[in-house]
Amino acid sequence: MAVKVLVLGGGSGGLVAANKVKALLGREVEVTLVDRSEYHYFLPGLPWVAFGMREVDDIRRPLANVEKRGIQYVKAEVQAIEPDANRVVTDQGTFAYDYLVVSLGAEPQPQPTADAVAPWSPDGAMALRERMKAFPGGRVVIGVSSPYYPCPPAPYEVAGMAEFALKVKGVRDRSSVDVFHMNPAPLAGMGPVISERVMRILEEKGIGFHGGFEFAEAANGEIRAKDGRTLAYDLLILVPPFAPNRVVRSSPLAGESGFPPVDRRTFRHVKYPNVFVIGDTVNPSLMLPPAGVVAHFQAEYIAGVITSDLKGAYIGQPFDPVAMCIMDFGDNALLPQCSFEKVLEGTGMPSCGVMAVGRWVRVTKMLFESYWFATLIG
Ligand SMILES: Cc1cc2nc3c(=O)[nH]c(=O)nc-3n(C[C@H](O)[C@H](O)[C@H](O)COP(=O)(O)OP(=O)(O)OC[C@H]3O[C@@H](n4cnc5c(N)ncnc54)[C@H](O)[C@@H]3O)c2cc1C
Repeated sequence: MAVKVLVLGGGSGGLVAANKVKALLGREVEVTLVDRSEYHYFLPGLPWVAFGMREVDDIRRPLANVEKRGIQYVKAEVQAIEPDANRVVTDQGTFAYDYLVVSLGAEPQPQPTADAVAPWSPDGAMALRERMKAFPGGRVVIGVSSPYYPCPPAPYEVAGMAEFALKVKGVRDRSSVDVFHMNPAPLAGMGPVISERVMRILEEKGIGFHGGFEFAEAANGEIRAKDGRTLAYDLLILVPPFAPNRVVRSSPLAGESGFPPVDRRTFRHVKYPNVFVIGDTVNPSLMLPPAGVVAHFQAEYIAGVITSDLKGAYIGQPFDPVAMCIMDFGDNALLPQCSFEKVLEGTGMPSCGVMAVGRWVRVTKMLFESYWFATLIG
């Protein structure tokens, strides 16, 4: 009988894991992918939706497309994970498994202020587009409300795109653009080389940066930091806070912090060896960034680990704790790359460098989007 592999979440990690397990093991496995959404979203495309380069339909594909690849797709809300019984309860029934892959992402929390928008969801991207359409120019402020949010570089990309959009609209001369973050410098966790390069791009575009600015509240067109500093705005783009995924947090998989404890090399749960947890659901607890590229490489790797379990041995791709992100600033772009090898070993900081810079780099992000859809869900 085929081994049952159940994948929770059809985002970056889950979609790659389901594809890779099926590709490696074929008829030996029955792969089922569960997601409450009808669609897989290419989330790096959300800022493009906000600034008119894409429509929502352009950056998503029906998850049912995976059935052409021999993967069963079930549209269902996961309600409970019961690893002691090897089953998962959903609003469409209970699913038994031999292997479970959990890639349910991070859980967005409500916006702390009603007048903020953020392209961190399709609705948020469309809301920002509407605000930009009606915006006569003025003070644009972009920032984050908590340290945990998908894609650490994205707020800087959004600031760059907003600045470029104001130029295109012809209102740049009567506008200002400012970014705030709780970190002392942009992408401080990636070290000085990346920080300085991002800072230079912001300066070239006349974008102000406010470091060490911990969001406290926003009201009447003014944001206040915990240290009392204020920033006035006419348009506020605020990344909402995120929390560890609710279903995982309330399951026996959760550790004390709410994040599930996993082996740092194999992403196997320390108590349930047939359960793997990858992506934004677990990465902040491993000091890895909540980024699609990390979820992608983890998914490929754990597919190899499951294959090794079933075949006795399989040496596929070694796990490469590398993250590269094409940062699209609208009229410029940057490709930083970081290795998180020392972070995973617990011996040091990520080692990072700049692989490319220039407006042509934007094209590589668009090419990657096409490659992603074609290879995973076309
Ligand atoms: C604006 C933006 C820009 C980004 N840009 C980049 C970038 O340029 N490069 C990069 O590497 N990363 C980028 N990211 C981050 C990247 O998209 C995420 O890190 C990545 O998608 C995480 O993958 P995941 O599988 O952990 O979770 P997700 O991709 O979030 O997938 C989680 C899935 O689980 C489903 N789900 C959750 N709870 C339940 C439930 N209870 N029942 C059923 N289904 C459920 C959701 O519907 C979703 O489909 C960006 C993110 C955003 C928001």
